[in-house]
Amino acid sequence: MTKPSLTLILAAPRGFCAGVDRAIKIVEMAIEKWGAPIYVRHEIVHNKFVVDSLREKGAVFVEELDECPTDRPVIFSAHGVAKAVPAEANRREMIYVDATCPLVSKVHIEAERHHANGLQMVMIGHAGHPETIGTMGQLPEGEVLLVETEADVATLEPRDPERLAFITQTTLSVDDTAGIVAALKARFPAIIGPHKEDICYATTNRQEAVKAIAPKADALLVIGAPNSSNSRRLVEVARSRGCDYAQLVGRADEIDWRALEGVRAVGLTAGASAPEVLVDEVIAAFRDRYDVTVETVETATENVEFKVPRVLREPA
Ligand code: SF4
Repeated sequence: MTKPSLTLILAAPRGFCAGVDRAIKIVEMAIEKWGAPIYVRHEIVHNKFVVDSLREKGAVFVEELDECPTDRPVIFSAHGVAKAVPAEANRREMIYVDATCPLVSKVHIEAERHHANGLQMVMIGHAGHPETIGTMGQLPEGEVLLVETEADVATLEPRDPERLAFITQTTLSVDDTAGIVAALKARFPAIIGPHKEDICYATTNRQEAVKAIAPKADALLVIGAPNSSNSRRLVEVARSRGCDYAQLVGRADEIDWRALEGVRAVGLTAGASAPEVLVDEVIAAFRDRYDVTVETVETATENVEFKVPRVLREPA
């Protein structure tokens, strides 16, 4: 039986960013240096495949520091942690390695700088996301006000509307954030912020690539985890660009093939925490069912790389 033809439009860039790559290397190098088990506070990056592979190598994932024994090293995830976490690790005299992405650390430093200048912070982010918790936890309670939507801006009650600064989570929707920033500036004209926002290069580039492919695709799949903020934003971006059937899939076995019946062009991308091996798996699953032509649409090239902390580069 001949297979129906289908074009897979691959977004580029897609998948792993420099911060995720570094965080995974940190866990692998820690296992090499100190042996297993190595404890990791929170999923090192939001991807089950990555977490399971590291678990097999000897990583133990926990949610809180008090679940770790004090005589084993612990690693903090790429999303960043509140100041209280390394303080507690120091108090317990634990060896720890901070895998916070340097682009998240940059936001932490921004928050501290504004706080030192006597400004109260507004953070644009998602409540409960580990990055938001970590960034808000850089300053004393009450010093960072969280807004998630433009509507939240109207109800903000800052200490002094003339002495405010804003920061953002790194994995937000570029378009939605621009609306929230505009609302903040309209209500608090004196507010200080970064030039645009703190959304990182990887988030921005992946959203731009989806904007380029979504109008050409009858359906679009984003490989990523439900708790991955940047992956979920890619689904929203695709829908906002007219691709009504945009779905998040963890792996090939989650694809709803029935829903794809009759489509001729499928867009494909992967969130910043999804490895390329999962993209290959999805392409192979399409090839099993269709006569596939792969077309890549590249909207940016990336050559960002972050060094791992020195402690891992030194001999044990
Ligand atoms: S998505 Fe951006 S901020 Fe988050 S780990 Fe990757 S590069 Fe860093």
